[in-house]
Amino acid sequence: MQATPHLFIEVIVPLPVPNTFTYTAPAEFQSILTPGMRVVVPFGKQKLYTGMVYKTEAPPPKHYVAKPILDVQDDAPVVNESQLRFWEWIADYYLCFLGDVLSAALPGALQVHSETKLVLNTSVAWEETELTDREYLVCESLEAQHSLTLQEVSDILGIKTIHPTVKSLMAKDLVWLHEEAKEKYKPKTAWYVQLHPDLHQESKLQEVMNKLSNAPKQTALLMRYIELSNFFSGSPDAVAKITLQKKANASANQVSALVDKGIFVLEEHIESRLELVEATQGEKALNAEQQKVADFLKNELREKPACLLHGVTSSGKTEVYIDLMKSYTEQGKQVLYLLPEIALTTQIIQRLQARFGEDVGVYHSRLNQNERVEVWKNMLAGKYSIILGARSAVFLPFETLGLIIVDEEHESSFKQYDPAPRYHARDAAVMLGRIHKAHVLLGSATPSVESYYLAQAGKYGFASLTKRYGDAKMPVIRTADLKEEHQSKTMRSHFSSVLLNEMELAFQAGNQVILFQNRRGFSPYIQCTSCGFTPGCTRCDVNLTYHKQINRLKCHYCGYHRDMPANCEQCGSPTLELKGFGTEKVEDELQLMYPDRKIQRLDLDTTRGKHAYTEILSAFARQEIDVLVGTQMVTKGLDFDRVGVVGVLNADSLLSFPDFRAHERSFQLMTQVAGRAGRKKDRGTVVIQTYQPSHPIIQWVTENNYTAMFESQLAERRQFKYPPFYRLIRFTALHSDRDLVNAASGYLAELLRRKYKDRVLGPEYPIVARIKNRYHKQILLKLERETPVKQTRALIQRALDDLQRHPDFRKVRIIPDVDPA
Ligand code: ADP
Ligand code: ZN
Ligand code: ZN
Repeated sequence: MQATPHLFIEVIVPLPVPNTFTYTAPAEFQSILTPGMRVVVPFGKQKLYTGMVYKTEAPPPKHYVAKPILDVQDDAPVVNESQLRFWEWIADYYLCFLGDVLSAALPGALQVHSETKLVLNTSVAWEETELTDREYLVCESLEAQHSLTLQEVSDILGIKTIHPTVKSLMAKDLVWLHEEAKEKYKPKTAWYVQLHPDLHQESKLQEVMNKLSNAPKQTALLMRYIELSNFFSGSPDAVAKITLQKKANASANQVSALVDKGIFVLEEHIESRLELVEATQGEKALNAEQQKVADFLKNELREKPACLLHGVTSSGKTEVYIDLMKSYTEQGKQVLYLLPEIALTTQIIQRLQARFGEDVGVYHSRLNQNERVEVWKNMLAGKYSIILGARSAVFLPFETLGLIIVDEEHESSFKQYDPAPRYHARDAAVMLGRIHKAHVLLGSATPSVESYYLAQAGKYGFASLTKRYGDAKMPVIRTADLKEEHQSKTMRSHFSSVLLNEMELAFQAGNQVILFQNRRGFSPYIQCTSCGFTPGCTRCDVNLTYHKQINRLKCHYCGYHRDMPANCEQCGSPTLELKGFGTEKVEDELQLMYPDRKIQRLDLDTTRGKHAYTEILSAFARQEIDVLVGTQMVTKGLDFDRVGVVGVLNADSLLSFPDFRAHERSFQLMTQVAGRAGRKKDRGTVVIQTYQPSHPIIQWVTENNYTAMFESQLAERRQFKYPPFYRLIRFTALHSDRDLVNAASGYLAELLRRKYKDRVLGPEYPIVARIKNRYHKQILLKLERETPVKQTRALIQRALDDLQRHPDFRKVRIIPDVDPA
């Protein structure tokens, strides 16, 4: 036998390991291998994984002997070159590994399916090894069959206890256990009824009809089929069996009877799982202001790495996007339209599908694994010109990407928190645009300080829409001074007289109300009035929240819950008091005050079902709900006609949040929720309840003064070395042993200080220092914007490797988070 030349290829394995790995490609695979194909590779001791071809040319590895790849999963790449470049950037910038990106980017169902199989190690000559009869039999069968399941081995040997044989073969390095990488994805199929090919002529069909004349039910069924299949239009279409049965009011048995008589044939068709929403709206022409902005952006997008569109709520940003999208799709370019998960509602899907029909693909985390694979495969087949998606849509296989729109670009939920890659979809989108030479448009009514700064500095292009569409006016924003109202005893429960009066007016005018309270549950904590005891989670350093409907105490960090106790666990007295208030309490008390009004809560607890969120919003749109009470969920991009009043129940809890972005966030949240009011004819009213009505942020919200907020924030950021002037990297050390976390994080901080000096802050405990019995301690690194990414990465990796070599500290998990949200 002649030795084939070795071809070395580099493979990404789906594991959090620092490197890619070099393998050899056997001759039969050499001509077909392309980067982006999935391959089965041995890794570690007798383990196999589905990896991804990264490079088809690589030097032979220096420190190990390359093993051969065992199989190729694809005929064509499932990931293209641009995606691989994008993965590299994500891994470098966000301090993670290509394997992490692979795991996150590919839908789970395109990844490993684990059916354990035995395969032969072809690099060892089993015939020359001394073997028992059983071992010989297994090797011989494996050579013939390529791979065998354990059950098959058992059948071949005729015994149940095959493990000694398998173990011994593995010890001799003759066989490997193979986690067979078969796709989990299965296309969805449905049965269709077709007329037998011999009967497609009218005369033949007539004969059959005559024969059936004594079976009226079957005749009716056939007639119905003829109608549904458009028989007389030429050739009959297949009709879904289930549809036919329904329309003909026939049973499965009656269909089978006609199949048995050779009249019908059954066909299995592959069907899409992806739901199409009914399109509702037609074409809309831009008004003068919108048209001017759209025209300006068409030019500006070519000049700048990104543009920012600052448009007040309801100014018609979406209409401007749609206009831009058209001009790209008309040139055969793809458009990626990113929205925060929660803002990706039926409303926006409908608006896009109304304009672009089936060209729109939708990709978000509420899709199941199979649905995700279908979107992915449709993209590989070039089916969509528009992808409307949440964060993870940046990983889809784009071929001709021309424009990326990041709507609500200020949203912190664009940042992935866990697991790695901890990427920010907005920032990643700018890089994705650069890789594809595609244009990038960021839009918001309340831009992030970071993006607005870049626009101000001229690095990004900038356009603004200052007026609401049509005659709609910006809402009137009023504050309710809680201190004053408490003193004058005009509060009813958690509602100020100002808010209640406005609500009353709204009800009288037949309008609806939205109330925003940033906590779910009934009471954020309970306390014993005798001894002051407050029950906390056993696994986390947080108080338990009382949920009234289920009468339980719940931990919002780990999910732990238990019954509400009748007495204090510490002193035994029945003097437990419910403190503070969440959405559940707001709903409850409001219902008591307005027994005839329909009150609905919109938060994590009421939206667990797949369609619950959509159903609540649709009911609100149909005006079947008078008051919608909710958490952040009510603030996101919803467009309703008849919201007369919006209430922010507790502005102070937003303002006092211990984070350098708290003021920016408060401004954004309040402005966004205010933007839900009075979007059409009637001017809406917003009431902000607060103990600090003169707080500058509250003032700027009421004046709709974004610039003032921006300037004050920018000055603070500059002074205290925060973004956009500095880049933050936060390291979190995690372990169940508190002392170990202290020591390891201290050691890491020291290592980092050697290089970064006073740019290193901490380690410090975060607000919640223990979650699920693991202690957290954090180090913050503040880097100058210009610091090169590759160099930073190398330096940090060295410090982390150093920690890894330490006998105790290696047990501590370190999570780096770049640009933490
Ligand atoms: P934004 O995204 O800025 O909040 P939208 O695009 O949702 O604003 O527009 C607000 C409302 O005004 C929507 O109901 C939209 O259909 C309507 N609208 C905006 N621009 C136009 C237009 N040019 N023609 C018709 N309706 C428009
Ligand atoms: Zn007590
Ligand atoms: Zn907990």
